[in-house]
Amino acid sequence: PPSIPALLAADHPSVSFEFFPPKDDAGELALWDAIRRLESVRPDFVSVTYGAGGSNQDRTVRVTERIARETTLTPLAHLTCVGASVAALRQVVGLYAASGVRNILALRGDPPGDPGGAWTAHPEGLNHATDLVELVRTLGDFTIGVAAFPDVHPASPSFEHDVDVMVRKADAGATFAITQMVFDADTYLRLRDAVAQRRDLPITPGLMPVTNFKQVARMSELMGTPLPEAVVRRLEAVSDDPAATREVGVTIATELADRMLSEGAPGLHFITMNRSTATLEVYRNLDLGARAASRA
Ligand code: FAD
Repeated sequence: PPSIPALLAADHPSVSFEFFPPKDDAGELALWDAIRRLESVRPDFVSVTYGAGGSNQDRTVRVTERIARETTLTPLAHLTCVGASVAALRQVVGLYAASGVRNILALRGDPPGDPGGAWTAHPEGLNHATDLVELVRTLGDFTIGVAAFPDVHPASPSFEHDVDVMVRKADAGATFAITQMVFDADTYLRLRDAVAQRRDLPITPGLMPVTNFKQVARMSELMGTPLPEAVVRRLEAVSDDPAATREVGVTIATELADRMLSEGAPGLHFITMNRSTATLEVYRNLDLGARAASRA
């Protein structure tokens, strides 16, 4: 398959789906049901987030390996520096390489527990995502992506600092970036344009079709991604009606994605929450299948 940066540089939007490692057997079944349904639209790649602790991290590796082995999908493995020595990180990268995973999203991660708590590196570990980009680059022929924060990273002093960090990530060897979930197209475009002035680093927006207002409100607080007032108003108006919430969530995601694509976003990275229905609705609303077919 073509490399992720090549896909993002092409003249059609790339489509990718993000999953998280399930916690139990029921979650595992739901995940594989979603993967199989989403596989049918032939996304350009799919990613699995890296768990915060030991057993969660093992599950990430297992799910990613299984995707590589048993599906037609191209996996992108998330990897963080949290709680890991350099030796342990090398080992995980080795497992990925052995199962044919060629794409890694290199992240710092967050300290477990208190959201927004101070970062402390493992005594024999790494301190920044850029260090992990450099490490992964020395370990094999990987395509390396990084995180981007249109709403400014919660611990960052400024937007300008965030842009500098993106430049450092590109210089360390990252060749594409994916953003935190976006709810305001203008913040995405502002970061994309500021980075584009300095480096050739395609930045794909993260898109989450909201199906549960309380859940997204909590996530947005944890991630420092404020929900625009208009989005809150539209979702609050239907907050006691799950079906209407889904419908409004899908409409909001469709409008937002449409705007970002028309402004030249290289693709869409759907945060699926291990479900397929809302994502497929947005996918169909945008006619992404036809856009992909026209490139063939
Ligand atoms: P860094 O780039 O290291 O940045 C962390 C902080 O340090 C920022 O405030 C930055 O401004 C600052 N900084 C960076 N470099 C320097 C420098 N050289 N000098 C001074 N300051 C610097 N978390 C998980 O646990 N698992 C996942 O799978 C996961 N997937 C994600 C996927 C995406 C697309 C995104 C956007 C985030 C994801 N996260 C995940 C969350 C992420 O790990 C956290 O947001 C984390 O706080 C920042 O990660 P980073 O890779 O950007 O770190």
